[in-house]
Amino acid sequence: MKAIRAADTRPELLVRRALHRTGMRYRLHDRSLPGTPDIVLRSRGAVVLVHGCFWHGHDCPKGVLPATRREFWDAKLQGNRERDARNATALTDAGWRVATVWECALTGRARRDPDEVAATIGRWLAGDEGELTVAGLWRPEAPAAQVRGADSEAGPQPASAPARADSRTTSS
Ligand code: ZN
Repeated sequence: MKAIRAADTRPELLVRRALHRTGMRYRLHDRSLPGTPDIVLRSRGAVVLVHGCFWHGHDCPKGVLPATRREFWDAKLQGNRERDARNATALTDAGWRVATVWECALTGRARRDPDEVAATIGRWLAGDEGELTVAGLWRPEAPAAQVRGADSEAGPQPASAPARADSRTTSS
């Protein structure tokens, strides 16, 4: 089984490389902050979380539950999502700005142009917006029929998927 806390995942390395180009200084895996955020930019009051879609329960094809032991995975990943939400709230409450970059934005067939992702993060860091979410291009491009796991039982509560902020990353 893959380690949940893989510290140097490929998506994370891609983000770090992008940040490096901005010249901003960052700290990695800061244990003094809730949830040990992957990347911390104190000078910008910002943290960047790079989330693996499966382990963090992203609502995308990479986050689809395995067909077996469904209840186990459901509970497990729900727990992970809740922990992520608690950590994000704790960070926000402490005055941090929080960017979440999903793995699918950087790897796989729905990935975005890495330069575009870097630019998006760079703009966010330079600004003062509170939150940023960068995800793969699943929604706008992929026809519904291609999204796997869309069997009748699969749907996580539809109410849990409000309009996402993803579109922000494509505009402007
Ligand atoms: Zn994803």
